[in-house]
Amino acid sequence: MSTAKLNTHAPSASVAIPFTNGNCISLEELQKQSIDGLLLKDIAHPLVKFQAYKNHQLVLKSKFATGDYILTFNADSKDLHVACSCKNKAPGICIHIFKTIDAIAYKYGNKYFEQLQENKQFDIGFKYPDAYDKIETDYGITLAKRKELKQLYPFENTSWPLPLSDMLALEPAIESVAREKRAAVVFFVALPYGKRQFPFILSGYGKLSKGNDQLVSWVKFGPEIDEAIGRPYTVDQLGLYLKAGELRKKVEEFAKKYGDVYRISWNLEVQEIFQEWKILYPLLQDEIFVYAYKYYGSRQLRGRPSKANARRVAISKKKPFVYFKKDSIKGKSQLSLGIKIDRKPISSYRVHFPFLFHNGTMYMFDSYQDAVIVQWIDNIGCITFFAEHKKDFDDAILTPLSQKYPIL
Ligand SMILES: [Zn+2]
Repeated sequence: MSTAKLNTHAPSASVAIPFTNGNCISLEELQKQSIDGLLLKDIAHPLVKFQAYKNHQLVLKSKFATGDYILTFNADSKDLHVACSCKNKAPGICIHIFKTIDAIAYKYGNKYFEQLQENKQFDIGFKYPDAYDKIETDYGITLAKRKELKQLYPFENTSWPLPLSDMLALEPAIESVAREKRAAVVFFVALPYGKRQFPFILSGYGKLSKGNDQLVSWVKFGPEIDEAIGRPYTVDQLGLYLKAGELRKKVEEFAKKYGDVYRISWNLEVQEIFQEWKILYPLLQDEIFVYAYKYYGSRQLRGRPSKANARRVAISKKKPFVYFKKDSIKGKSQLSLGIKIDRKPISSYRVHFPFLFHNGTMYMFDSYQDAVIVQWIDNIGCITFFAEHKKDFDDAILTPLSQKYPIL
């Protein structure tokens, strides 16, 4: 037992233990090179005490029943170099080295020694005392990164939830679809020909120009998936599509029931359609590609949307101001409709219940009453009367009208 309590002088001869691919130490390999192979199982783990870390070298003291041994460890990228103070002269790994590594690997894993490589955890931990807590145990020492460092590069995985390059390449879903596929969802305000039905909404999609700001061609009506393009609809757009479907159903049922909608009285069902539009119209304002579309019947929908029937419109939140104008010349008077946008009278416009089209912009009348009154006077054009009938006209039309609308 005279070998016990050796001094802390660095042991001279060292053995090189190769790191495996994952920078691990293979205990099987260690065992093969061990010179005391037969004894390995019979000897318990030593008590391993940290001594020092300096000059890239970890110094440990291993306490065996037979005495204490000083072991030094350092590592390059290929090998772990270990020396033991027992000064074993035989080629191979002494039992102290084996048992110490076995104990450390048992406690900290066989990747532990990778930390001794240049600029890895031990170098950093001892060079920057604030970086790691050094926790000494009966298995030597372990370094615990301080929490405030959060993620310490390069020791921790920075690729989560995706590699950074993938994360940086991410784009908003709608945009990436639009850019990649060069497709955009389009909403059509279908304006039935001859005003046989009330307007309703159709949707479809088209191909975008390079600048993604214009449509160069139509692809199809409807939200069905296109093989080449997919379905570029967002959740909001699908929602609008579904609501629009309900509106269209109502409009078509109404037309079936009453025939030419502009010859019937403006009953409650029309008001319901107006209310539906009140809900849908603001949703259209969120859409980029909205077109007024001349609608001739459902047969049209089998093909792709036609450019000739479509006119791009802006959807305005502004409410057309409805008033009446009365002009009198030489005993003849005429009452006609006036519309103001932004307090300015506009002269050229088109009315299609419950909308007003003016300069490529679509407006919705604010109230059902406005929409109905405008539809009435717009269909007529204007009302003419002569001085002889002034009183009757005032009683029948002008006075009641003036209680609701300005007459200028
Ligand atoms: Zn030894």
